[in-house]
Amino acid sequence: MARWKNPSLLENERERRRQYQGRLVQKLPDGGTGGVDPRDLDRALLEQVHPPAPILDVVREKCLDCSGYQPGEVDRCTAIACSLWPYRFGTNPFSNRKGNAEALIRARGAKQGKGPLADEDAPGEDHGSGAPALPGAEGTP
Ligand code: SF4
Repeated sequence: MARWKNPSLLENERERRRQYQGRLVQKLPDGGTGGVDPRDLDRALLEQVHPPAPILDVVREKCLDCSGYQPGEVDRCTAIACSLWPYRFGTNPFSNRKGNAEALIRARGAKQGKGPLADEDAPGEDHGSGAPALPGAEGTP
């Protein structure tokens, strides 16, 4: 079971990770501190601290952390500018494996320079941008 499905397990897991603070945070020459580069860490140690997990589970965990372990708060998150926002349910809304092929096509179009997920790229469908119209915002991107 993904840890994020049980917020108390997730809190325990974060407390467990904190025990490695002394090994993963180093003193810097300027007197400050900095986390080590995980790419330089011994793999076994890294896996001890952060057992490998699907990246979308990691996103969900971060969102729960951000929202005080309140799943309902993650569901209602209004921080649409956050890079994690589309993925906060622990799923990829662009994935065609979830039957969202149109979204994947639009995302690929955007990646190929056709613009940011332009709905007009999806033939025969008009879903609108999904963004609410703002008063006086006509003509703004
Ligand atoms: S999407 Fe929302 S809940 Fe998730 S990290 Fe961003 S601000 Fe926090």
